[in-house]
Amino acid sequence: MLDFDGTLAPIVRDPARASLGRGMAASLARLAKRNDVVMAVISGRSLADLKQRVRLANIYYAGCHGFEMEGPGWSYLHPRMARVETQVKKLEDRLRTTLAGVQGTIIENKRYALTVHYRRAPRKEHPRIGRLVRQAGDPFRTWLRMEPGRMIHEFRPAVAWGKDKAVAQLMRRHRKDEPYPIFLGDDVTDEPAFEFLKGKGLTIKIDSDERAGRTAAILRLRSQRQVMAFLRSLT
Ligand SMILES: [Mg+2]
Repeated sequence: MLDFDGTLAPIVRDPARASLGRGMAASLARLAKRNDVVMAVISGRSLADLKQRVRLANIYYAGCHGFEMEGPGWSYLHPRMARVETQVKKLEDRLRTTLAGVQGTIIENKRYALTVHYRRAPRKEHPRIGRLVRQAGDPFRTWLRMEPGRMIHEFRPAVAWGKDKAVAQLMRRHRKDEPYPIFLGDDVTDEPAFEFLKGKGLTIKIDSDERAGRTAAILRLRSQRQVMAFLRSLT
């Protein structure tokens, strides 16, 4: 089970340009072909966006942290998502107005979630952006909850959910195979999955920062190059 941004693909200034390196794509394809491997990519990106960036058939995809999932002959959508989609559209309209004059922000409608990226905004604007985004999101709080991330403010459905739930569903689907779960991720949104897999499998945090903070993951890798070497070691 693999996160996408910061795990398989390097973090880039414009999230729309994030992509797998050629070596990584080849390593994934090779690993996915093994009969004894079930592969899943679990991301905060929308399902459609994620699939188009990974482009592998016969693997699982979990978009929006697992609110929408798809795999060989199977799909899942959380029952509250139709209402959430409408609320995301309204919030998007509001934010486009609110942030119109703020340089360097990108609003991304992920269908069941919404992300404001501020990596490209001047540092001194960051506090103001946070304030404006919080105010805009306030009327939507019954449906959407604001969560922090790496240089992003993200609104996710106000439903008790996280990547741990996506992992649990995948584990359940493959219970009879008695899989040994391996999960790689780089962000705070991956921590619930690390926690969930404690004592059950292998968890790896991708972190290039020497002063990295606490994580529930067992191991640490420093770069996409190391992730690739790890994936190759499994094939
Ligand atoms: Mg990530």
